[in-house]
Amino acid sequence: MKNLVIIANGGAGGINFPHRRAQGLKKAVSVGYEILKNGGSSIDAVEQAIMVLEDTTIFNAGTGSTLGLTGEVEMDASIMTADGNYGAVAAIKNVRYPIQVARLVMEKTDHLLLCGDGALKFARLCGIKYHNPKTKEKIRMWERAKNRLKSDYFPKLYKLKELYETVGVVAMDTNGFITAGTSTGGISLHLPGRVGDTPIIGAGTYANKYGGVSTTGHGEMIMKTLLAFRTVAYMEKYSAPVAGKMAIDYATRVKCRAGIIGIDREGKILCVNNTEAMSWCYIKNGTMKSFY
Ligand code: ASP
Repeated sequence: MKNLVIIANGGAGGINFPHRRAQGLKKAVSVGYEILKNGGSSIDAVEQAIMVLEDTTIFNAGTGSTLGLTGEVEMDASIMTADGNYGAVAAIKNVRYPIQVARLVMEKTDHLLLCGDGALKFARLCGIKYHNPKTKEKIRMWERAKNRLKSDYFPKLYKLKELYETVGVVAMDTNGFITAGTSTGGISLHLPGRVGDTPIIGAGTYANKYGGVSTTGHGEMIMKTLLAFRTVAYMEKYSAPVAGKMAIDYATRVKCRAGIIGIDREGKILCVNNTEAMSWCYIKNGTMKSFY
């Protein structure tokens, strides 16, 4: 029998509200696993699981995304399949499910990444309706954080951005086909137009015939290290747990704060981080495991 596997994470920035986080992640992987169990594709499983996480409001993705410096929510998302297809959106506003738009970019265009107004226009052309992703909770957090910033924008921002709450999902279906996806509101108080690792191929998301990976953490460093690509590249020779250890050791050496989840071609799982903590949950062949 083929392995059926789905793993999700809720960011590598520590675990406040562990109960709510665990609930959201368990629901997401359950929805995705149900699709896999019924013979559905890993693309559907990843998209639907991420849509659950984008709706929970506890994570920094979709509704409940963190606000940028000017109080705007700009979201990034990407999806990649083992056969090399890729789609992403960057700095998109006012949609409910950025991952859905990323999948549409993958399936309906000749491009890999659409950003800003262009991404939004494309989404509307595809019938995706207006949605305000700001929640009262995140507006309150934004007000508090903005007060703490006051001056010295960059050094202080560096400390604040340890609040990583990006979501990622990787799944393997009954055909052994792997898909990886990631969705985020970026880092808190980012400058307008800032794009992080999440929609960048090989940084936030990567998949090929050897495996699939989604990352979370300090986006700028994850981009410089191409952390998702690097982890999948290790999987050409090593199993997922070994590749995960090699990748996170490398990240630590170059001072890249990160978390990584992934699946290799044999259905083995990796789940590593070098931050304080990372919330995660997976189901493999019917058995669920979670951080909490
Ligand atoms: N990697 C994300 C970014 O820099 C942040 C996170 O993981 O929460 O946009």
